[in-house]
Amino acid sequence: MDRAELSSAIIQEMQGVVEEALATVVPEVLTVDLATLEQRVQQVGRVILGGLIERVARGHAQGLPRPARCAACGGALKRRERPRPLVGLVGDYTLRRAYYWCAACKRGAPPLDAALGLGPGDVSPGLARVVARAAVDATFTPAAEQVREALGATLSDETTRRLAERIGVAAEARTQAAIVHAQQGQPVWAEDEVQCADDTTILAVEVDRALVHQEAGWHEMKVTTLAPLGPDLRTDPVSGRTALAWGPASYGVGTEEAEAFWWQVYVEARRRGLGTPAVRTVVVLGDGARWIWDRARAFVGMPGVEVVEIVDIYHAYGYLWAVGNALHGAGSLHAAAWVEPLKDHLYLHGAAPVLAALAALTPTTEEALNARTDAQTYFTRNVARMDYPRFVARQLPLGSGAVESACKCLVEARLKQAGMRWGAPGSQAIASLRAVQRAGRWAAFWQTHPDQYRPPTEEAAPPTPCVAAAAAPRPAVSTAPPVPVSARSSRVAALADAPRTAPRPKPTPVQRPLLLPRSA
Ligand SMILES: [Zn+2]
Repeated sequence: MDRAELSSAIIQEMQGVVEEALATVVPEVLTVDLATLEQRVQQVGRVILGGLIERVARGHAQGLPRPARCAACGGALKRRERPRPLVGLVGDYTLRRAYYWCAACKRGAPPLDAALGLGPGDVSPGLARVVARAAVDATFTPAAEQVREALGATLSDETTRRLAERIGVAAEARTQAAIVHAQQGQPVWAEDEVQCADDTTILAVEVDRALVHQEAGWHEMKVTTLAPLGPDLRTDPVSGRTALAWGPASYGVGTEEAEAFWWQVYVEARRRGLGTPAVRTVVVLGDGARWIWDRARAFVGMPGVEVVEIVDIYHAYGYLWAVGNALHGAGSLHAAAWVEPLKDHLYLHGAAPVLAALAALTPTTEEALNARTDAQTYFTRNVARMDYPRFVARQLPLGSGAVESACKCLVEARLKQAGMRWGAPGSQAIASLRAVQRAGRWAAFWQTHPDQYRPPTEEAAPPTPCVAAAAAPRPAVSTAPPVPVSARSSRVAALADAPRTAPRPKPTPVQRPLLLPRSA
């Protein structure tokens, strides 16, 4: 049968299906209200459209060549019929398809699945996208309910969880693949994946952590937010201070250790233009945590790129309050009288006057002594990161509010709800999915067919990072500015060059378990 004959055969068959379905439903709904009418029509629609998809898929299968021999061993193949039922976007249906089995390899394949781009599981690609989107915002039970309400498609909570986590694993796998590329000195992203506006010159990178309840107790989830700064200005309604405005943000989240997480920060920075001629300055903002500052410069520094490190000023205020409260009583007027002028000094002159004030104290209690010692250590270690007058003059942000907000909205709002306990890969998968959606990458992500993603098996594991290439000695940082855009044929050239000019510090192979365990 050629294409025209097949089409008209399907259309003719469907006329029968439609007539039969309508003959049953139309007399029933002649007197009902509109809400009932819509519901019934949706149900009938799912039956009719499911039937259409079954027939079209069967037609597709007829056109596929029959594999002659096993691709792996060349042995004979046995043809079997193996129907595959699916819950779909517009209806539920069963794909009638052939399955070719090689007895020698003990493996078989249904050619129709590959031709249709069908991944594992019993949910169609179109519905998978809707379910995953619902599970970005809602826990699995409400997500399943939402899909049932909107589409009339019924999925169990468990199917919803498994599906959403599998898609999240696919999202995370893309980040991990970029990390492997970076460690091997290959271009990290394809040219069209790099999101960097032409007027970007400053890239802000904020880093912090949130806590998620896992089976073994509370576990840290590290979070990074990246965005171009300026050229637009924004005036803070409270402080009246004018600073460079944040552009569209993107995110990285991970339960891994600091070193592995910084690789994630690095590849996201590359995605936002680090390594292209556009980005000349990277501003890193965080609290005082050592895991941030021990690695920031090594990971986002590059020849010709200025790195500005800024400690969140509100975090520094917290240290002043700890001392003031220990000296004069928590929340007392005397504590405030000691702290408030020092906050102004810190803002206007940096850490030096604060350190002088701390040195001049004569604490009489152990608590006050300890608070002073902590503060002295903190302000001494971060003097250069508290050069607030210089940061103010450059209209840079002084607080890491963007990443604190990401910890709350991206991670905690979904992962830290009452009674939730997550397996590590489950929380990672959903957080990765949320990061994709929040960064405005949802549609582009689905063009990569994440529903077809299968976690690699042991023997097909991703290549281990090439340690020799990535661990090459780091060249002395050049003071030369990056080559101007006009001198480059394209940004691809810049991307291809960058890994060679800036190898990262000693790489740690980043491999998260890709199996899907239980989670909330
Ligand atoms: Zn075989």
